[in-house]
Amino acid sequence: MRRDLRVSIESLGTWGSARLVAEYDPESETIRVDARAVENVRRSAGDAEARRFIACAVAHELAHRAIAGRSEDEAHAVAARACGTDPRSFEALVRG
Ligand SMILES: [Zn+2]
Repeated sequence: MRRDLRVSIESLGTWGSARLVAEYDPESETIRVDARAVENVRRSAGDAEARRFIACAVAHELAHRAIAGRSEDEAHAVAARACGTDPRSFEALVRG
């Protein structure tokens, strides 16, 4: 039986040289969105954009959860259809 999915905003730090923005952890059924990325979007674009960023990031991770092995481009396309914005459009805001 599948457990309830949790969404958590927390510090994700880096993975190798890549800065993590969001991740899906199948062990704990948790989607984590990086707190600093959310704060960067909020500071430069406001609360509504920060909420939209979280929704897009969650949609992207849900796309990975639904089909394991789904590519980044496919997950971005699914998220773009779900939340009306391609998550990549937040790239500059996320970096702060
Ligand atoms: Zn992805």
